[in-house]
Amino acid sequence: MGDELTICTPMRVEQAAVLAGLRGARAAGAAVRVVRTGMGPRRTRERLALAAGDGPLVVLGIAGGLAAHVLPGDVVVASEVRADDVTVACPAAPVLVGALRDAGFRVHVGPIISSSVIVEGAARAELAASDALAVDMESAWLLAGHPDRPAAVVRVITDTAEAPLLHFGVVQRIAGGLAALRRIAPVVADWGRAVGAREVMLASPRSFCAGVERAIEIVRRALERYGPPVYVRRQIVHNAHVVADLERRGAVFVDEVDQVPAGARLVLAAHGVAPVVRQQAADRGLDVVDATCPLVAKVHQEVRRYAGADHTVVLIGHGDHEEVVGSAGEAPGQVRIVADEAAAEAVEVADPDRVAYVMQTTLAVDEAERVAAVLRRRFPKMRAPRHDDICYATSNRQQAVREIATGCDVVLVVGSANSSNSQRLVEVARRAGAASYLVDDATGIRPRWLAGARRVGVTAGASAPPELVDGVVTALSGLGPVRLTEHRAVDEDVRFGLPKEVS
Ligand code: SF4
Repeated sequence: MGDELTICTPMRVEQAAVLAGLRGARAAGAAVRVVRTGMGPRRTRERLALAAGDGPLVVLGIAGGLAAHVLPGDVVVASEVRADDVTVACPAAPVLVGALRDAGFRVHVGPIISSSVIVEGAARAELAASDALAVDMESAWLLAGHPDRPAAVVRVITDTAEAPLLHFGVVQRIAGGLAALRRIAPVVADWGRAVGAREVMLASPRSFCAGVERAIEIVRRALERYGPPVYVRRQIVHNAHVVADLERRGAVFVDEVDQVPAGARLVLAAHGVAPVVRQQAADRGLDVVDATCPLVAKVHQEVRRYAGADHTVVLIGHGDHEEVVGSAGEAPGQVRIVADEAAAEAVEVADPDRVAYVMQTTLAVDEAERVAAVLRRRFPKMRAPRHDDICYATSNRQQAVREIATGCDVVLVVGSANSSNSQRLVEVARRAGAASYLVDDATGIRPRWLAGARRVGVTAGASAPPELVDGVVTALSGLGPVRLTEHRAVDEDVRFGLPKEVS
């Protein structure tokens, strides 16, 4: 595949703006040409040959907004482009979105309709009744005329139903749109550098673990059985998409129990809570459904057992993580939290002969073991759980990502920033030698990470839905031919039962 990026600009003023915006990128050696492809379907089809080639193609220009939330000055990146006779998907769209947001734009992703005539009034309203976000006069025919090329469409909105073309202020809006095109052009040039054939290697296992599946199922069933609202203390699992989905279904997420109306139904999140929280819920007369992962509950049990035997319990973990706050709350006076080897060297205990340790379930296995080794040296009689507390899902996902990372240029980890096990996957991949990045979804991918990356690994934290991984793979496949392979490090078949309130 040729590397040269072709940017198609329908109008001369758009071409001039884009060329001005590309001065720096071209001076730095970016292989990009800008062609003026003309307005409307007939001109567009006549000039298709101007954009001939096999490198990536981007249509860049101004357009009209359709959806009510799309405003003048906003940027629309097409998920697909449609005309009466053709629809073309743009799978790589998400990879432009984050970079454009970084550049300060308000960006929407969705369908763009190509119309053969300028639409205003009733015609615009008719198109707006579809799910399309914007209307232009060229993109669908341009992309249809250059099939099988990595392609994207980026449009700056200069007119809407509220601010139509033939209306006061249109000159300023178009001038603003052209200024935006100048700023967008280098972002698009960066996107072009991410294009290329590559191998995508999926780590397995990845994504949801048994504890997360159980917690989500508990909220869904509680909503079905008892009807909304069902209150959930904190994020049920640490993933923004999961939380947003459950909110749409009627779950109400609160920070603390006192935000829940007395007598309402409350689900406790997978990370577990301190006994004081359960007491607060009981005091308010709440109907509690406990979604604490059984493997977290096991750590709570260990803390209670060791503390009951008059031991100081060293909890290896991150003190600001909800799971650690909950576990430590089982015996606040007797638990010491240590996050790393230095803290393990410094921790003070009442009696060095009466010490035990437990761990947060989502730590990096190798790091946690180094901390435990320091504790064992300092407290030779230290008691330990029969099996390490780092859960099967955490260690399996770390093993899988370690094994793929050694052969990858880049590893993308799907997960939210507050997901401990997702963060650890990034660290494990980096220690194995790959560049690695955490992304909430495909819009988190930055083109510069992929420039020159021919082998890309993909995995997901235990709280990240599998469909987000599919979205990342789809986005990568929009950037050029992908050879998809899967590396299975471990087979997983763990399932947890549901509590009686929802089973
Ligand atoms: Fe349970 Fe482990 Fe999943 Fe956490 S990551 S919910 S401890 S199975």
